[in-house]
Amino acid sequence: MVTLSRRFSTATSDSLGCISLKQFPQNPHKPTPFYQIQQQQQPKQLESQIVTTLDGCKNLTQIKQVHARILVKGLDQSCYVLAKLIRTLTKLNIPVDPYPLSIFNRVNYPNPFLYNALIRGYLIEERLNESTEFYSLMRKEGVVPVSFTFTALFKACGATMDVGLGRQIHGQTILVGGFGEDLHVGNSMINMYIKCGFLECGRKVFDEMPNRDVISWTELISAYVKSGNMESAGELFDGLPVKDMVAWTVMVSGFAQNAKPREAIMFFEKMQEFGVETDEITLIGVISACAQLGAAKYADWIRDVAEKSEFGGRHSVVVGSALIDMYSKCGSVGDAYRVFQGMKERNVYSYSSMILGFAMHGRAHEAMKLFDEMVKTEIKPNRVTFIGVLTACSHAGMVEQGWQIFELMEKCYGIKPSADHYTCMVDLLGRAGRLQEAHELVKTMPIEPHGGVWGALLGACRIHKSPDIAAIAANHLFELEPYCIGNYILLANIYASCGRWNDVSTVRKLMRTRGLRKNPAFSWIESEKGMVHEFFSGDMTHPRSGEIKQALEDLLDRLEAKGYQPHLSSVAYDVNDEDKRRILMTHSEKLALAFGLISTIPGSKIRIVKNLRICEDCHSVICGASQITGREIIVRDIMRFHHFRDGICSCGNFW
Ligand SMILES: [Zn+2]
Ligand SMILES: [Zn+2]
Repeated sequence: MVTLSRRFSTATSDSLGCISLKQFPQNPHKPTPFYQIQQQQQPKQLESQIVTTLDGCKNLTQIKQVHARILVKGLDQSCYVLAKLIRTLTKLNIPVDPYPLSIFNRVNYPNPFLYNALIRGYLIEERLNESTEFYSLMRKEGVVPVSFTFTALFKACGATMDVGLGRQIHGQTILVGGFGEDLHVGNSMINMYIKCGFLECGRKVFDEMPNRDVISWTELISAYVKSGNMESAGELFDGLPVKDMVAWTVMVSGFAQNAKPREAIMFFEKMQEFGVETDEITLIGVISACAQLGAAKYADWIRDVAEKSEFGGRHSVVVGSALIDMYSKCGSVGDAYRVFQGMKERNVYSYSSMILGFAMHGRAHEAMKLFDEMVKTEIKPNRVTFIGVLTACSHAGMVEQGWQIFELMEKCYGIKPSADHYTCMVDLLGRAGRLQEAHELVKTMPIEPHGGVWGALLGACRIHKSPDIAAIAANHLFELEPYCIGNYILLANIYASCGRWNDVSTVRKLMRTRGLRKNPAFSWIESEKGMVHEFFSGDMTHPRSGEIKQALEDLLDRLEAKGYQPHLSSVAYDVNDEDKRRILMTHSEKLALAFGLISTIPGSKIRIVKNLRICEDCHSVICGASQITGREIIVRDIMRFHHFRDGICSCGNFW
């Protein structure tokens, strides 16, 4: 599989040209090998006594005392004792050169363990060259390495990402022979290849191993997870004979990290079925999956599992903070606050998650109150806390207070505003209709504005129908995020809403020349039983689509009776009004809403998640629906949460 260099040829000394043996002087008066036999008669009891004493040594003086005793007792050739002596020294970070090295050099017939102690000592000092030179010396002297020799060397190659050397040592294990069935050697070899970025080589080693343990499997599964290859990770996991908590957790967290929240939850469910225990890491994984999905039904269940383990929100500040974030993202800010209140201990993450949660849901005053409470404790706010506070100001239209806090964060807390904080400020000003001021702020930023900053400005231009500033923001975005189609669509929509059809077609042309295709818009909703139903725009494939269409028509009739007019400007196509009306009617969030109305208990909350920004027309339809049906409707779109209740949205009609 790999080409091996001859650097470690086991043949003769002349092939070891790269090693200077002068460095390791040989004993000029080498006694005969019979000396070794003599040595073996050393009292074993004394040896183990000294080894135990060495275990208790805490400093160099103590070790030197033991060393003196070793010499007095005539154990100066006992490899067993001396290897331990060297290990004790190097563990205390005593440099190999000169002290441990001098101990080694006085031994006439060093055994593999003594070599090993020195190789490891060099590795602790990160002197990979010296340790491999010692390995060569060992081979030259005909001393057979032990598995620890290889595991230590593989570990060092992995740490320094030296795959060339790693391959040579791999070759050595084959040349020396007898390590094919050694689990530790195999596992450390897999680890080395993975750390060096040669996952497939690691896989090959794994496939050829006659014995494997859970470490071999988990090592590879984690590597696949990290590379985003969940398919191979899943395949290996299925083959794992005994699945322990660690392996399960790798899968749950892996799916969560690779934006496959549904699979993460499915694995967590299976894990529960099999009665596998959970720890904090498993919980954090599944909690983040649930937060991504925004699935409220799973949220309660996951919280219950956490409570039943010893890592519930009450006791574990990490799990508690994650639960707060999860509930906020599932649209249940009340539940998030209950978790927060129940926590025995709180830290900056718990406060920040809660402040951000309130802010996201438009409960600005609660967010500000909690911030005031927080600064009275010993907990110092961090950059996330300020994102929450500024978002809250933005939602409540508190422009002056926002400016004050923006200045306060650096002055009082030493936190330099990042581009994300500027994004909040642009949002705050833009929302308040102060577009020029927002644009000025961006122009005078001491750091390079990122896509978020320009995106906030572009978003504000949509609400306030300001095509000229929109064009400036969009042009920056087209450079920063050339393939982010949402920006092109937003600009086209802004032009369309002002009737500037020529500009609309220019944007469309740009999209075409860059080969961008519109992402299909879709929304999803949970049914009563926790099943997730997906709807695409214009999609009539749902088994109940007949009923859905009927419910939607009924709803629109009732709304029209109350004065609702379709926002035809939400359609960025220059088609006739009837077509616009038809296109609007089948927007994915409307289909999801209608399905929610017919499939859930009257009066219960309806939760919808959308992959793109909600359009103006859907926003006003859902607003109206919340009033005439008396339902609370929560929509999470790509930008924010919308809580619709009694005809009012928490976003204040700004998103
Ligand atoms: Zn819509
Ligand atoms: Zn809204």
